[in-house]
Amino acid sequence: AKIRIYQLAKELGMKNEELLELLDQMGVAYKSHASTLSEEDAEAVRELVREQRGLQEKLAEEERRKSLPKRPPVVVIMGHVDHGKTTLLDYLRKSRIAEKEAGGITQHVGAFEVKTPQGTVVFIDTPGHEAFTTIRQRGARVADIAVIVIAADDGVMPQTEEAIAHAKAAGAKIIFAINKIDLPQADPEKVKRQLMELGFVPEEYGGDAIVVPISAKTGQGVQDLLEMILLLAELEDLRADPNAEPRGVILESKLDKLAGVLVNMLVQEGTFRVGDYVVAGEVYGRIRAMTDSDGNRLQEAGPGKPVQVLGFSELPHAGDTVEWVPDQEAAKEIAEERKEERLRREEEEKSRRPRTMADLLQMLGEKEEKEVNLILRADTQGSLEAIQAILARESTDEVKVHVLLAQVGAPTESDVLLASTANAAILAFGVNPPGSVKKKAEEKGVLLKTFRIIYELIDEVRNMVKGQRAPQY
Ligand code: GDP
Repeated sequence: AKIRIYQLAKELGMKNEELLELLDQMGVAYKSHASTLSEEDAEAVRELVREQRGLQEKLAEEERRKSLPKRPPVVVIMGHVDHGKTTLLDYLRKSRIAEKEAGGITQHVGAFEVKTPQGTVVFIDTPGHEAFTTIRQRGARVADIAVIVIAADDGVMPQTEEAIAHAKAAGAKIIFAINKIDLPQADPEKVKRQLMELGFVPEEYGGDAIVVPISAKTGQGVQDLLEMILLLAELEDLRADPNAEPRGVILESKLDKLAGVLVNMLVQEGTFRVGDYVVAGEVYGRIRAMTDSDGNRLQEAGPGKPVQVLGFSELPHAGDTVEWVPDQEAAKEIAEERKEERLRREEEEKSRRPRTMADLLQMLGEKEEKEVNLILRADTQGSLEAIQAILARESTDEVKVHVLLAQVGAPTESDVLLASTANAAILAFGVNPPGSVKKKAEEKGVLLKTFRIIYELIDEVRNMVKGQRAPQY
């Protein structure tokens, strides 16, 4: 319907003059604010105003974010066994103790901070992707950056590729640390070539993969590594609101004979204070004391701070989110609700595990995103490449086939963890998973199948792709 200008101004909560100005800008002719607008003009005005307001809100939100204080990047160290993860963590830990006066008692709180003139970096204290995946399995995003350690005398190995897949699946930025460059047989150039084969082109060759040569033993290059981490963090513009409702994530928890339940937590948002009531998964508590990695008792802990917390009633799981709640009653109620909810879900899942292909297809079909995630395992590099070459053509416009990891050798428990967090199926060709892995897959409800003929494997994928497509009418 037609509408008069002053009526539309009222509808949109604008002053008449504002609307007249807007009409001028739009090139709409009028006599006065009492003139009528055509329906199309009125609709165009509404549209424009909505758009401008949306934009303003976005800008305001961006402004607000920009005004928040920065938070330190959280880094996890991953890589193949014996490539130097533990040595690097030890070196970093020692370097920070050396900075302070001797005599300080360090406390294991699941992560530690390294302070540099350019800023602070928080390192998760457990190397390897198992711990990382356990945390991520419960939905928490912990690490912003994954440092993937590759020994320069050994090069890219199966677990290096696994670590890359885990980091990518978690949405963490990757930095490659080529380690052991102090060894005479170190060949960093070879490692770079291997990385390029995996699609990571180092910056010096015109790509954007960050590669830092280091020796975790002598400390050579470790400073550069810290600088690259901080540079990357700067680009990511990591910020958190210390005044938001407090939220953290459980890194570890254990039972101590003397102290009771010890919980290591990383604060992610807001500020936890001694006396606060908290819930983590199905467990609740009241913070009695907090200690940082230097053994200092804290009254409060803000974003990016790893702390040990006393006051939980039971052991929470690594990866559980810690939430602030106003009082004991709320804490108890939420924890109990969750327990009941889990029991109900478990009952339901028992009857819903994807025991057959048809079950999995149905589950996939119920999902929103149209993606088939796969972990491929094969007996030889040749068959792996053959399978991948065929699969590369199986994606359709609607459904993407996404290979998270392709490796020679039997499926591992770590594959099952990755599959379960990333909602993937594990397809093996010519290799048999050990019984323990089969059991784990069953436990986690992960589809794991072994094939003897490549085309049967491909057919399975085709069926998955079909199952993912929206029904055609
Ligand atoms: P992880 O399994 O990845 O945690 O590897 P470790 O940190 O335990 O290291 C495996 C072995 O490599 C140990 O004997 C370390 O002393 C050695 N190592 C680690 N980093 C270096 C390094 O930069 N140079 C040399 N020469 N040896 C290293």
